[in-house]
Amino acid sequence: MMKIGIGYDIHRLVPGRKMVLGGVEIESPKGPEAHSDGDVLIHAICDAILGAMGEPDIGTRFPDSDESFKNASSIEFLREIADLTRLAKYEILSLDTIVVTEMPKITENRTKIITSISKVLRISKDNINVKGKTSEKIGEIGKGLAIAAHAAVLLKKIN
Ligand code: ZN
Repeated sequence: MMKIGIGYDIHRLVPGRKMVLGGVEIESPKGPEAHSDGDVLIHAICDAILGAMGEPDIGTRFPDSDESFKNASSIEFLREIADLTRLAKYEILSLDTIVVTEMPKITENRTKIITSISKVLRISKDNINVKGKTSEKIGEIGKGLAIAAHAAVLLKKIN
């Protein structure tokens, strides 16, 4: 049995916050405003996996109101969700993602980000894709005021 999940996330970009994408710290004049580290890509991936498993979203599992998640490293959220998939006997077959942002450039950091995600999910880098896209200067993302990410995942139930 196969299950598809999709995830989406967006964060406001502000000066003085570090930019973490896929668990990788990237040089950037602005970073996401968030309760956690605001790793928009990891948040979208978490929601895609949870979605495929029929579980409530990441905000329900790791609520903003919980002080223990303040400035939390989102990669730890993903690690916990990866454990959950193994426990529920799901195998992650494929993960595709898009980061929508004017800066930083995703292509320059793509390999590092894929390696980081692959380590946490314990799946081959060949089954993970990370693509960057700008918003063509349109809207809030286009003005550099926000960063968004989309993720799609394919899970297989193992007996
Ligand atoms: Zn988020």
